[in-house]
Amino acid sequence: MTTTYPPEPFRIKVTEPIRLISREERETKLKEAGYNLFALKAEDIFIDLLTDSGTGAMSQEQWAALMRGDESYAGARSYHRLKAAVEDIFGFKYFVPTHQGRAAENILSACLVKPNLWVPSNMHFDTTDANIRARGGRPANLVIDEAADPANPHPFKGNMDIAKLKAFIAKYGREKIPFGMITVTNNAGGGQPVSMENLKAVAEVYHEAGIPFFIDAARYAENCYFIQQREPGYKHVSVKDIAREMFSLADGMCMSAKKDAIVNIGGLLCVNDEILFQNIKNELILREGFPTYGGLAGRDLDAMAVGLYEGLDENYLAYRIAQTAYLAQRLNDAGIPTIQPAGGHAVYVVANQLLPHIPNYEFPAQSLGVELYREGGIRGVEIGSVMFACLDPEDNTWHYPALELLRLTIPRRVYTQSHFDYVADTLCKIKSRASGLRGYKFTYAPELLRHFTARFEPL
Ligand SMILES: *Cc1c(COP(=O)(O)O)cnc(C)c1O
Repeated sequence: MTTTYPPEPFRIKVTEPIRLISREERETKLKEAGYNLFALKAEDIFIDLLTDSGTGAMSQEQWAALMRGDESYAGARSYHRLKAAVEDIFGFKYFVPTHQGRAAENILSACLVKPNLWVPSNMHFDTTDANIRARGGRPANLVIDEAADPANPHPFKGNMDIAKLKAFIAKYGREKIPFGMITVTNNAGGGQPVSMENLKAVAEVYHEAGIPFFIDAARYAENCYFIQQREPGYKHVSVKDIAREMFSLADGMCMSAKKDAIVNIGGLLCVNDEILFQNIKNELILREGFPTYGGLAGRDLDAMAVGLYEGLDENYLAYRIAQTAYLAQRLNDAGIPTIQPAGGHAVYVVANQLLPHIPNYEFPAQSLGVELYREGGIRGVEIGSVMFACLDPEDNTWHYPALELLRLTIPRRVYTQSHFDYVADTLCKIKSRASGLRGYKFTYAPELLRHFTARFEPL
């Protein structure tokens, strides 16, 4: 993987000012926010790496497409332009637009999940997990063991463990598994891709058991690009053809268009089964809107139709993946550990290795995230014990996640090399005095999804 920074395959026509407020102001803002980066105002952030979801920059073609938006309630031209793109790229028989990815998951779960049914995947994203649970179902994560080792350079760390999947199906049986999934790339596991070989094996196992196979396709284009770059036999296959092959293996997909379709809002739900599609349309009408707009404005559908193709553009993908690898390499060169290899959409700093003196119950990745804002006005997101540690009701002990990560998530087409150099330089400064950083404790924490609203105090 290249470590040189590629020239952006675009030039900049519209700008959005950003400002680094003074160190004293940053300290005040941190105190006011209870040291929770979610509670900061966006205007007080210099470089925002909280998420790549809906934060991308639309192109001139997408902005032009907005003006063509047809706001007819039913059968709008915008819908038919999106339909043509969806059929061309994904090849499923039926689809509905949704307002974002979790709406597609909600509708799919409403149609298929019942109490005590299981839905296996490599790793469910948190909204997918929650939507399955909200219907009484049970999500299961069956990713390969290599995914848990941050230093392991396996090229397809998002792969499903096929032996675990077979054993899982043998244990619960087809009647208890309404559908099976896989997430490409595996967001919850470091943005790591799934190989085509693995996707084929997964499809075969599901189909032999008579279980419908759904892909969580939020970052399918990045995954297909990794297949082209890393998997034998795909070097000369276009990313679009790889995508067609990938989706030909599945019975349907849900997708957050806020990722690889480079729009600020939108999602998709695609299926081949006609009866399921009827049920999906009924749920959609109840929750989102008429099946030809699905909770979006006509102009949003048009921006998505254009963005789907731009997200597949190989010059763009080469730039995006190299940009992520560049930031990871700069950190690694300075001895800052990150999950290997660099994933598609984010660099994950292994905070428990950088700050070994802060125990997990004092939140090392939270400490690093706060310090990154204090030092440079940069916002990342803690993916560690603040987010995932939980009290086991059975034995009344705390269970901590294996890794304490600070995720630096890269919005699409937004920041340039100098921004990434600034992020790397800031982290290097912090590393040189890492042993002086201290942990945090909660002053307030709600029971569920506490990372969003918790408040902290430095120890
Ligand atoms: C973002 C995301 C979702 C949920 O999509 P939203 O548009 O945020 O509702 C689902 N799965 C994966 C893998 C995601 O990254």
